[in-house]
Amino acid sequence: MPNTNIRSVTPHVLMADLAEPFAYSQAWYRRRGAMLVEVTTEDGITGWGEAFGPPELTAPVVAWLAPLVIGQDAMAREAIWQALYNRLRDHGQRGLVVEAISAIDIALWDIAGHALGLPVHRLLGGPLRMEVEAYATGFYRRDRDDHLAYLTEEAAQRRAEGFRILKLKTGWGLQEDIALTKAFRAAIGPDCGLLVDCNHAYDAPAAIAYGRAVADLDIGWFEEPVPPEDIAGYLEVKARQPIPVAGGEAVFARWGFAEMIARRSVDILQPDVAACGGISELKKIADMASAFGMRVNPHVWGTGVTLAASLHLLAVLPDNPPGLFPRPPLLELDRSPHPVRDSLLEVPIEAKAGRVRVPDGPGLGIRVDRAALTRFAA
Ligand SMILES: [Mg+2]
Repeated sequence: MPNTNIRSVTPHVLMADLAEPFAYSQAWYRRRGAMLVEVTTEDGITGWGEAFGPPELTAPVVAWLAPLVIGQDAMAREAIWQALYNRLRDHGQRGLVVEAISAIDIALWDIAGHALGLPVHRLLGGPLRMEVEAYATGFYRRDRDDHLAYLTEEAAQRRAEGFRILKLKTGWGLQEDIALTKAFRAAIGPDCGLLVDCNHAYDAPAAIAYGRAVADLDIGWFEEPVPPEDIAGYLEVKARQPIPVAGGEAVFARWGFAEMIARRSVDILQPDVAACGGISELKKIADMASAFGMRVNPHVWGTGVTLAASLHLLAVLPDNPPGLFPRPPLLELDRSPHPVRDSLLEVPIEAKAGRVRVPDGPGLGIRVDRAALTRFAA
């Protein structure tokens, strides 16, 4: 067994300009970035992690936490998680702090896999499955007038690539959203899976009106209808419109999800491995959800580091419910522009016919291209 004491913890802030800006309901993106964490051990094993959230804000948190991690045994990831969370519990139970801890935790799982010569999904007790169906995220708003035209063109591309489920972004105003959703469904036809995500652009009455207006369009889930703090609003939306409700990408650690689960505020939980506390914490959240019979479909929006970590978890998430004909969890595959993501891994993780293989190399099963770290360093 190598010496797995931690020698260094290094945040990398990467950034790239977008050729064409795009928006979700809360902001425009003109650049896209990533905050990767590189953890090395005394014996030279390197683990990679990633944080959701603004890279230039999560990196200083990682730098602040680094002295608490250096010198510890990387294999003691549970002990390290608790030490980091407890150190900032009084100040950072949500948001940037938990995102930074997520990145460190993911890197420690990567190290553990390399130290033992096993992929992360085997350390987690899997696999239950080595391939998952992916749905295509994208369909963001561009600074043009012909929204339906470019969204329809994007849908045709994804269908041609083999995706069978698409997720449409809404949150452009209630009447416009209703018209857009109807037109988009008509354009993609009745056989394509359709999910909608407004990124909490509505309050409960507006979300209920939207859900009722598009009730007959066979929508798989309605994501983040209202702000994440509004648990009572989620419960109203769930009760008063027919589309299953999803949420959780802006919820943090087991305590945030405990309230959603106990109050059953959504039908589908969407913890993000790079935000909710890492692989260690997402597994705990998924186990809690399983005890309450709730579906889990992790939120994924980052580079291949987050994607690989999510795939190892997807390899072990239980079918809900189990049976001969289960409905396995889906992978969210972001297909919107992200220059850093597209060149970060030496061997990119890609969908074939809408399905993605779980990596089977040691650790996360990925190799980061150091030239990309230099090229996109901010
Ligand atoms: Mg979302």
